[in-house]
Amino acid sequence: MLRGGIPIGKIFGIAIRLNYSWFIVFGLVTWALSVGYFPSIDPTLGVPTRVVAGLLTSVLFFGSVLAHELMHSVFAQRFGIPVQSITLFIFGGVSQITKEPQKPKDELRIALAGPLTSLVVGGVFWAVWFLAQDASSLVVAIAYWLGWINVSLAVFNLIPGFPLDGGRVLRSILWWRKGNLLQATKTASNIGRGVGYLFIFAGLVQIFIPGLTFQGLWLAFIGWFLDSAASASRREVMMQAAFEGVRVHDVMARHPVTVGPDVTIQEVVDDYLLLRNIRAVPVVEGGRFLGLMTVSDIRRVPRDRWSETPVRAAMTPAPALVTAYPDDSILSVLQQMTERDLNQVPVVADGRLQGLLTRSNLMRFLHLRDELGIRKAAA
Ligand SMILES: [Zn+2]
Repeated sequence: MLRGGIPIGKIFGIAIRLNYSWFIVFGLVTWALSVGYFPSIDPTLGVPTRVVAGLLTSVLFFGSVLAHELMHSVFAQRFGIPVQSITLFIFGGVSQITKEPQKPKDELRIALAGPLTSLVVGGVFWAVWFLAQDASSLVVAIAYWLGWINVSLAVFNLIPGFPLDGGRVLRSILWWRKGNLLQATKTASNIGRGVGYLFIFAGLVQIFIPGLTFQGLWLAFIGWFLDSAASASRREVMMQAAFEGVRVHDVMARHPVTVGPDVTIQEVVDDYLLLRNIRAVPVVEGGRFLGLMTVSDIRRVPRDRWSETPVRAAMTPAPALVTAYPDDSILSVLQQMTERDLNQVPVVADGRLQGLLTRSNLMRFLHLRDELGIRKAAA
């Protein structure tokens, strides 16, 4: 959902991006302000004034969300956690913080930095609102709304359901008290899912109340997002705990089927992919690993050329691939697979193919360990 986005610049070395869905919010906020809010404050305002004021307020709103995310990121960096980017999207902002904090105290500070920033920014706008009472009604209206939206942002984010900031606060406290990150994550993300369901339920009820339909839809939508974010975060942390200390050679398929470079695409499709139900096949010649023939490579070749095109001409060559060493930690490879949306990574040493690491290998490894009742002591 958050893959696409327009880069708009860098602050403190962090890339700032706008997801396309963010424009929906920008449009809605501008529209609601200029058609509903401003006329209710001062009916004499002309349309151009209202639209310009609406746009200006939306930009300041955008700045407020950015300030919130930026403070999370600044604190994360202070504790030695690299931050790749901040993306603003339909429900606010997300900081792509590359790994979990090492200590509960760090997590607590990173989590609180955002809502506290929103409270301060909200306070500043409310101070402007208070001091500008005698100035123009428009400035008062804008300052009041921005104060209110920032305080709401802080309050909403402090709901104690993971992965909301409040859920992170809760997790860090549980983690600190019980010393068990995994258990703390489970509890905090279960509450996050509970909050999500509550939102969905409240939203669905509102949909049937005349005048609240849109608001209800919005609430249900946020609830759905919270629920899926909570379960995704939970899965990720569980994965991390399960693969702690596991190396690529523990999990990879050791003798994957391979093809030579002169086999045609048609043969690869018929005799390998379809027959064995696999998505990719490594290309090997005289023991050397040459590249990978994947479903996406094949799709780039028109079907009527399949029987005459050799694998050599269509495969992704080895230098262009993400590969792993047998001794690499699963977690580092997994991170690359997630970031680049890869289904498999060839395992190569000295130019020779040692094995293939696929998503299904990883899943099977987890299931097998689970069935055998092998659980590592939680980190
Ligand atoms: Zn936050």
